[in-house]
Amino acid sequence: MSDRSAVVPNNLEAFWMPFTANRQFKQAPRMFASAKDMYYTTVDGRTVLDGTAGLWCVNAGHCRPKITEAIRAQAGELDYAPAFQLGHPKAFELANRLVELAPEGMGHVFYTNSGSESVDTALKMALAYHRVKGQGERFRLIGRERGYHGINFGGTSVGGIVSNRKMFGTLLTGVDHIPHTHLPDANAFTKGEPEHGADLADALERIVALHDPSTVAAVIVEPVAGSTGVLIPPKGYLQRLRNICDKHGILLIFDEVITGFGRVGAPFAAEYFGVTPDIMTTAKGLTNGVIPMGAVFVRDEIHDAFMNGPEHMIEFMHGYTYSGNPIASAAGLATLETYQEEGLLTRAQELAPYWEEQLHSLKDCPHVIDIRNLGLIGAIELEPIAGEPTKRAFSAFLKAYEDGLLIRTTGDIIALSPPLIISKSEIDELFDKLRTVLMNNI
Ligand code: PMP
Repeated sequence: MSDRSAVVPNNLEAFWMPFTANRQFKQAPRMFASAKDMYYTTVDGRTVLDGTAGLWCVNAGHCRPKITEAIRAQAGELDYAPAFQLGHPKAFELANRLVELAPEGMGHVFYTNSGSESVDTALKMALAYHRVKGQGERFRLIGRERGYHGINFGGTSVGGIVSNRKMFGTLLTGVDHIPHTHLPDANAFTKGEPEHGADLADALERIVALHDPSTVAAVIVEPVAGSTGVLIPPKGYLQRLRNICDKHGILLIFDEVITGFGRVGAPFAAEYFGVTPDIMTTAKGLTNGVIPMGAVFVRDEIHDAFMNGPEHMIEFMHGYTYSGNPIASAAGLATLETYQEEGLLTRAQELAPYWEEQLHSLKDCPHVIDIRNLGLIGAIELEPIAGEPTKRAFSAFLKAYEDGLLIRTTGDIIALSPPLIISKSEIDELFDKLRTVLMNNI
């Protein structure tokens, strides 16, 4: 055990922590001091297996020397360059590498600093695109129940999590939502893509008709909804959304902040499912979670529509001080090299059968009412305790942390998404630990 008082400040009050029960946390804080590959070390010297790749982002594992070194070198060479009307080579080089991985025809990227910024950028891009094309009456945005698209105003508005919305008044107007894709009765304990529910996509047709198709700018969905408990799309569902969007000239945005960079066994979920969106938002795994950076990928027609305007104008009045930041770009390049050298962008597909088998072996643990998986993502849904809907999963989280395993919970769902470097024996360790937690009277 190391001496936690040497590293942890006495006073924890000044830091108002995000998405955290601050009062409860500060009575019994949980903190990491270091990390390497698949493991964190806590401030009191305990080892914790990372079952969630941080927050779905550390896809290549922790403190990878190549990425660390690239950041160090870039910080000493060019720390910052203005992002508007000026640039530096690595941002362009990274964009070239990124579009090589993207679905065919998505040849351009716009940089942001987070998933939330990627989402709001994508929504603004969709609105602006229709205006550039002379269709400014397309102003409506459609999200999905149980969708998570970050916490900026656009993303909160198209998002479908009640608790994230209700503190903030009306949010954006002109937004509607299609139903989520979770069918607990028909699809419980499905391995991979569920059989039932492709027709849920047809709700888009009804909502579009209700508002008049010519007023709808874009539809945004996560190919696999992550933060709301891993909702895998029913077979054929995404293609059906694509068809409806095409029919009505509506842009389809995939929010790949979680699914991007290998999580489901292809560089992007769009490729895994064989459905190409018009705009694709990413962040997290782009820099292995190490430096804040996001990228919005766009289809060439969308990019070209902006480029074909009058030459003296700035084409898209949008951008961030840190768009394409040199250190983030260097981290992104080193991350992509690491993914490619180690085959991590497709590794989830190779490991998926073993992952699936081990995950579903928890089926008979007490209170487990559903298990779902795709690539290296998994979810275990627990029966809620009456009147205390999040208690059971959260107590599993606390017990797992004590036992040396990091899991993530949302409501009564445990979500798993380990770094893509995980070995079979580490998968065994993860599920052995989780089984002990679930069998332990939570
Ligand atoms: N979109 C999706 C699908 C996400 O999962 C997240 C983060 N979990 C975001 C957007 C927001 O990303 P960030 O926290 O980097 O703003």
